[in-house]
Amino acid sequence: MPPPRHSCVRNCTAAGSPHPPVVASRVFMSKTEQVDFLVMGAGVAGLRAAVELARHGDVLVITKESLGESNTHYAQGGIAVAMEGDQDVALHLEDTVNAGDGLVYRPAAQALVAEGPVRVAELIEWGAAFDRQGDSPTGELLRTREGAHSLPRILHANGDATGAEISRSLAAFARVHKRIRFAEWTMVTGLVVSGGRVAAADLASAGPQVHKRNPWRVATRAVLIAAGGAGQVYSDTTNPAVATGDGIALATQAGAELADMEFYQFHPTALSLPGVPRFLLSEALRGEGAYLRNDRGERFMERYHPLLELAPRDVVARAIAREGLSESGLARPVYLDLRHLTGIDLHHRFPGISAFLAHHSLDLARDLIPVRPAAHYLMGGIRTDLAGHTSLGGLYAAGEAACTGVHGANRLASNSLLEGLVFGARAAQSMLADGLPLSSADDPLAPHQPLTAAEKKHAESLIVQLQASMWAHAGLLREESTLRQGLAAQQATAEALEELAQQGKFSRRLAEAQALSRVAHSILASALARTESRGAHFRNDFPKRDDAHFQKHSTFTRDQKVRFVEW
Ligand SMILES: Cc1cc2nc3c(=O)[nH]c(=O)nc-3n(C[C@H](O)[C@H](O)[C@H](O)COP(=O)(O)OP(=O)(O)OC[C@H]3O[C@@H](n4cnc5c(N)ncnc54)[C@H](O)[C@@H]3O)c2cc1C
Repeated sequence: MPPPRHSCVRNCTAAGSPHPPVVASRVFMSKTEQVDFLVMGAGVAGLRAAVELARHGDVLVITKESLGESNTHYAQGGIAVAMEGDQDVALHLEDTVNAGDGLVYRPAAQALVAEGPVRVAELIEWGAAFDRQGDSPTGELLRTREGAHSLPRILHANGDATGAEISRSLAAFARVHKRIRFAEWTMVTGLVVSGGRVAAADLASAGPQVHKRNPWRVATRAVLIAAGGAGQVYSDTTNPAVATGDGIALATQAGAELADMEFYQFHPTALSLPGVPRFLLSEALRGEGAYLRNDRGERFMERYHPLLELAPRDVVARAIAREGLSESGLARPVYLDLRHLTGIDLHHRFPGISAFLAHHSLDLARDLIPVRPAAHYLMGGIRTDLAGHTSLGGLYAAGEAACTGVHGANRLASNSLLEGLVFGARAAQSMLADGLPLSSADDPLAPHQPLTAAEKKHAESLIVQLQASMWAHAGLLREESTLRQGLAAQQATAEALEELAQQGKFSRRLAEAQALSRVAHSILASALARTESRGAHFRNDFPKRDDAHFQKHSTFTRDQKVRFVEW
């Protein structure tokens, strides 16, 4: 097998990115490129998988922006892990199953909680510094409690910057590995199916600088999609700009099955200030004792759930949505209140959140903090088995882009970083074990036609309209009529985008718009088909859970059909 080669954007510094670019390790010179394993995404799942794959092959990790710009980087609260033995693991399993509202695939949850401690211990060995007693490297690991966890079992780093620490430590570990190379500011734009399996991926520049050969194709034994979620499909989201569901859209386009796409978790407490991004106010704030209050000062969760502020996320999010509307439909503020917490230095415990709030003249310890729900985490995704296999040969998925059924209808807080570690490693192990051959890939890609300024503006406005429509029609509270309106709006968007694509036009934003539109379709169609309420999916017209008909997972396929199946 020829040595793998790849090109990489150098010295790209797109405005707004918080992360400096990694300089390319090598530059591809030849026409046809080949690599053993191609990993789409450099969050926790992609990086963990890359480390595993590099034990036996050469790995190319593609990331749409600079290394570290991912949902993983922004994770605040922590990583849930049961490190106290069998009883602790059993309780973590029960909490995960209970949060999932009757739809957790138990073997997946069992794998998550049982393998989690090993994966976290390994991560610590590789350099992840979680917070410890007395700020000492040998002190006991500090644990906090979050919603629907029966025990304090959430590890955190630098107070509220857990994801950044995990991302930093994994990237540092992967970066020195000779068999792992990164292509930053590069996007996967297509999967090439040949002989009934994915045999290559098409790539394109995604940053301000354009690769010498753009677009280009890389042949590979196997592709792992670890491209994260799709929060950008909604106008209100805690997710960064890269979270446009590209991996999910490409997989379904190539013929892989999706599952449980109607289950989008809305985080109850994103900052609600006009003109300010929906910055996440971690569940750990409520874990430390924060109250929720309406504009009459009432601690309203008493009316909604016995666990009060630590009730499952969907319950808290819907309660906030209800309290946030007057009878005449006007918006009313809802607040997080930490003013009563005296035994804790909130600024030390939550330095990142405190700094962000201070920038907007709010003090965590003294002010009521206005909050509202925002799209946060996709429980559905590309359907996989417990070893990361999708329904399409040569294509694997892990992390938020995948759906193993581990979260059921609602994710337990802080289970997703753990999911990335456990299932990233598992998917990589099957990519190695399956031993698929490397096929040659010709490079027949036509050059891209750039969009005109007017077309760019048009594509941008289509994205904004789609996001607003999804929030209005497929958000926290759904019903048949709104979902149908959402489908009609999505259809119009898809047609307008198709017109541009038919002319051979390409830009990163156009590709993202197409991905968002495909993901929106799968969410709307699945939400319409599930005529019950369960977990994160709430139908005003079917407010009850209906186990007789719907204790099943939905699947969505390229023929745009939704089916319900038992796993
Ligand atoms: C604000 C916030 C706070 C959170 N807090 C927590 C928490 O406390 N605990 C917890 O467990 N979970 C938390 N989560 C959820 C958790 O962070 C994510 O579910 C998890 O990190 C997803 O990891 P991943 O590896 O699957 O994907 P990501 O980390 O999202 O990585 C996706 C990668 O794919 C790349 N990519 C996307 N499209 C393309 C493309 N077309 N081509 C190439 N690359 C592409 C991106 O550039 C990125 O590198 C939080 C999420 C957010 C947004």
